[in-house]
Amino acid sequence: MIDLHSHTNESDGTCSPAQLVAEAVRAGVHVLGITDHDTLRGFDQAVPVAREAGLDLICGIELSTKLHGQSVHLLGYFLGDDGLTEFRNWVIEMQASRRDRNIRLVARLQELGFDITLEEAEARGRGMTGRPHFAQLLVEKGYVSSLREAFDEYLDESAKGYVYRREPQFSEGVERLRKAGGIASLAHPVRVKRDVPSLMPELAEAGMNAIEAYHSDHTDRDTELYLGLAERYGLMVTGGSDFHGTAKPGVMLGKGGGNLQIPEDLVDRLRNGSTPRAR
Ligand SMILES: [Zn+2]
Ligand SMILES: [Zn+2]
Repeated sequence: MIDLHSHTNESDGTCSPAQLVAEAVRAGVHVLGITDHDTLRGFDQAVPVAREAGLDLICGIELSTKLHGQSVHLLGYFLGDDGLTEFRNWVIEMQASRRDRNIRLVARLQELGFDITLEEAEARGRGMTGRPHFAQLLVEKGYVSSLREAFDEYLDESAKGYVYRREPQFSEGVERLRKAGGIASLAHPVRVKRDVPSLMPELAEAGMNAIEAYHSDHTDRDTELYLGLAERYGLMVTGGSDFHGTAKPGVMLGKGGGNLQIPEDLVDRLRNGSTPRAR
């Protein structure tokens, strides 16, 4: 079995990198992609453990990008080491800008009279602490009655607690990945809040060269649709469960909700850079 989409506790998963490797071996996954949100730290820690365990580990990342003002996740896969240094520096810069925004956000919320600290938020969000964790705190402390209210009143772009953060545009994410020799794959297209088929010309134009046709959230029909788009636009195909450990209890490594079937030869095709049509 293969699985090219998984998270460790360096982003929002619950397994440590070593635990994730052990879980993959236990589940019968022999090729694993670690794709933490906006960090390579989980992958880096897993490398020696995977080598020891005889697991084929693929370097990946899931970037949070903006497309027409909406959040779109972009997977990146690195099958070689070339060009990674510059990309890693960019990722570290992005993390620094996220942390800087969080510091300013805490100051703003304190100004508004809330007893909230950065440590409390970071205890919940670790390396990817963001507005949802501040929203949780506002609810837990009884300042608002729901996450929705926390966003509407304080955290949304038009709300009184909002502080700006520079987030990469989709096209910049693609460019950074491709420049570093990576594969840029549209993550779980079913979650994109726009019609993916009609967005495709623009995404392909930006240099996106793969699509995640296989994902735990996809029905067979969704997968068919995305395989068709891959063929039409000459894209490679990726797939994975989006395993988060106990943070998403219904999702198993390699199998997703139980019906996920990721073709075994998909990784070879990624390594050859071939599209489904080139079969
Ligand atoms: Zn995602
Ligand atoms: Zn994910």
